Amino acid sequence: MRLNQLAQIFILILVFFLLGSLLPYQISAQSSQAILAPEQHFGFKPGADRMLFDYEELISYLQKVESVSPRLKMVEIGKSPMGRAMYIAFISSENNIKNLNHLKEINRQLALDPDLSDSARESLFNEGRVFCLATLSMHSGEVGPSQAAPLIVYKLLTTDELPIVKWLDDVVLMIVPNHNPDGMDMVVQHYRKYKNTKYEGSSLPGIYHKYVGHDNNRDFVTLTQEDTRAISRIFSQTWLPQVVVEKHQMGSTDPRYFVPPSHDPIAENVEAGLWNWTKIFGSNMIKDMTEAGLAGVCHSYAFDDYWPGGTTTCIWKNTIGLLTEMASVKYATPVFVEPNEMEVDGKGLAEYKKSINMPLPWPGGWWRLSDMVEYEIASTMSMLKTASMYRNEILKFRNNLCRTEVENGKTKPPFYYILPIEQHDQSELIAMVNLLREHGIKVYRLSSAAAIEGKSFNMGDLVVPLAQPFRPLIKEVMEKQDFPVRHYTPDGEIIRPYDITSWSLPLHRGVKAFEIKTRSENIENLLLEVTEDFKLNKEVPLNFKTAIFDVNNNESFKAAFQTLKQGLKVERLNNKLNLAATEIPKGSFVISNDPKLKAIIKDLTIAPIILKESMTLEITPLTLPRIALVETYFHDMDAGWTRFVFDSYSIPFTVVHPGEFEKIDFAKDYDVIVFPNVDKSILMEGKYKSKDEYYVTDYPPEFTKGIGKKGLENLMTFLDKGGNIISWGRSTGLFMGKLEITRGKDEKEEFQLPVQDISENIQKAGLYCPGSLVKTILLEDHPLTLGMPPEIGVFFRGRPVFATSIPSFDMDRRVIGKFPEKDILISGYCEKQEAVGDKTNLVWLKKGKGQLVLFGFNPQFRASTQAAFKLLFNALLLPKVK
Ligand SMILES: [Zn+2]
Repeated sequence: MRLNQLAQIFILILVFFLLGSLLPYQISAQSSQAILAPEQHFGFKPGADRMLFDYEELISYLQKVESVSPRLKMVEIGKSPMGRAMYIAFISSENNIKNLNHLKEINRQLALDPDLSDSARESLFNEGRVFCLATLSMHSGEVGPSQAAPLIVYKLLTTDELPIVKWLDDVVLMIVPNHNPDGMDMVVQHYRKYKNTKYEGSSLPGIYHKYVGHDNNRDFVTLTQEDTRAISRIFSQTWLPQVVVEKHQMGSTDPRYFVPPSHDPIAENVEAGLWNWTKIFGSNMIKDMTEAGLAGVCHSYAFDDYWPGGTTTCIWKNTIGLLTEMASVKYATPVFVEPNEMEVDGKGLAEYKKSINMPLPWPGGWWRLSDMVEYEIASTMSMLKTASMYRNEILKFRNNLCRTEVENGKTKPPFYYILPIEQHDQSELIAMVNLLREHGIKVYRLSSAAAIEGKSFNMGDLVVPLAQPFRPLIKEVMEKQDFPVRHYTPDGEIIRPYDITSWSLPLHRGVKAFEIKTRSENIENLLLEVTEDFKLNKEVPLNFKTAIFDVNNNESFKAAFQTLKQGLKVERLNNKLNLAATEIPKGSFVISNDPKLKAIIKDLTIAPIILKESMTLEITPLTLPRIALVETYFHDMDAGWTRFVFDSYSIPFTVVHPGEFEKIDFAKDYDVIVFPNVDKSILMEGKYKSKDEYYVTDYPPEFTKGIGKKGLENLMTFLDKGGNIISWGRSTGLFMGKLEITRGKDEKEEFQLPVQDISENIQKAGLYCPGSLVKTILLEDHPLTLGMPPEIGVFFRGRPVFATSIPSFDMDRRVIGKFPEKDILISGYCEKQEAVGDKTNLVWLKKGKGQLVLFGFNPQFRASTQAAFKLLFNALLLPKVK
């Protein structure tokens, strides 16, 4: 009896508490009456067949509901490359939204403070919330995640279902409604334009970004693009969420949905605990989605977490980084998939069958945008549930990891990277220091000279200590890459990398960095933090005669192009110049004083060498070349990167498409034609060709016109009249074999340049180089190698490789760059590297008055191979031959 009474009282208390805790949720649920449903705003329910909204419609919906919902706050985080405002939509309980700034401060302390007391930690774990950042549809053809966003937001703002309201109290969901707003609008406009035609759902011609297209997911180490920096800052500097998910799509015949974990290989520098957390989130997703009746979810498939170029670079910054991938429709047009059309790619799933990595295969049939939206909602809800379930543990894990990494940096070598201020290309050192700071890494300068491990360093040299919370990233981007070789079975096939295998910042930039494996209190006592944008641009005096820009610095080419564009005179030194203690290399740029020049100098990071008095110099004038850059409509990212590099160095150019070649008078309008890395068959015929088979794309026909016979004639006339051609990668195929110059009506000249591509035989000999940094020996004292050291690392993907021969007629050739005989690989992975030993990878050719520069590597690969940039710049400025 007494026991029963006690139980009654207990139940009463429990009911009282439950009601009390429910009350605020009910209140906020009531205010949801005014929240506009997505279909009222868009005029259709998101996910409806053949309907897409654009970026502006999406943002205006979010802003409308923000004005009436206490659970949503929009914060602008920057601008896209084409100027659209980018946002985070914060979604959480009313209390959390009110307290965002306080919660942000808790995130910062958990992420970056290794010295919190136990009691301070406990109170932060209790007060803190798990911040989950979801970045949607960075690849604009992958429309599903952004199209699902309004439904997810509406559900979270209006629901009063208890588990969800509890999740919103534990978790702050941060949605970047679209990672690539420019591309989203391009794709939606394209889809609407061709809707109801036979090209409905065809691929967008060109790239869905100002510059880089799909490679926006390859930019998170180099941070070259504005949108990349806006997203990277969220997990490097500002909000420091504990969980990040990036949302993608795969092909229509793939599994329906991929959740973490990824497949091997994984990054060696990342702590075990992070991989375990990605598994917990992924396992809960596959469980929750399968329970909800969603078939075809898989994990441990196709994608790896070895390479750090994507948004998941956050993993190297102690953030639980997740990736999801979903099967596609044709933008918004449904697809019917025959059951036996379903396929898998081998890595993690060898056949499309029930298996541990995909326990419930999807059977095939109709697949619609509404299905995709349903999968997206389910996967997002599962993430919130997991984050809520483990709130305390996740927050604790974050601060533990901060402590562990700082401790690792104090106890495990290497302890510091030291970058001498004196460098071959000082402008790249400066850019690298600023990049590290953008990544949230602290960089210091030595307050006086110091010696360690037998090396002497000067006052002002730069030091990056490893005892920092983001130690995994520091190590990853400062060391050389050594691919973790793993096999599918003992002694079996090697698990190939998903993407490239080298990204070391010092090696790619040609910056000297010393890895120090001895800890030194002396060094640590001399560290002064770099707290502002790093520059070495001392005040330039008002009165001077001449400024000389050292050709060794990439930035000097920017100064030269800017000056030429302003109509001022630029000249290059014919010989090296000795000035007191300074030796200025041959090819440096000489520019006379002018008010316009002073404005240019102000924006540089390095000051030129100043001559106060007139001096007789041996110089050759430069003219601004008229450059045509060839870009196809075939998602031509390499051309896009080239445009980006040209714009960054103020190099003017005109984009020409292959289909326009017939009509362009190249000889009259241009001095240089640049062919980035693209297949000869796409350039010539507007079709993919593999072996002897052609593959027709789904682009509307106006985008698949090739150079054609007449266009090629125009190109050869340009060469014949003294034009210069620069080409790299697969486009060099255009210039192999028999070529023909037509002069007037009757005269035809057949010729073959004294060069051939021998890469096919080299591949047969076993060379496999998925994208690695390899050693190249350069010809010294040639106009193409001005400002270059005798040996550099270039970014190589296995082809082409050249062999030159004795020229005939009015032709000539010089081997400008070649692989050494052995020890070719510098960073990354390469099988049978000796197969390219002593072979040519950069060649200069002459035909009459025309010149060609053919690269066997990408000199500007993803704007991340700065050590080779000058080879391209010099090629643009190549003097005429007689
Ligand atoms: Zn994608």
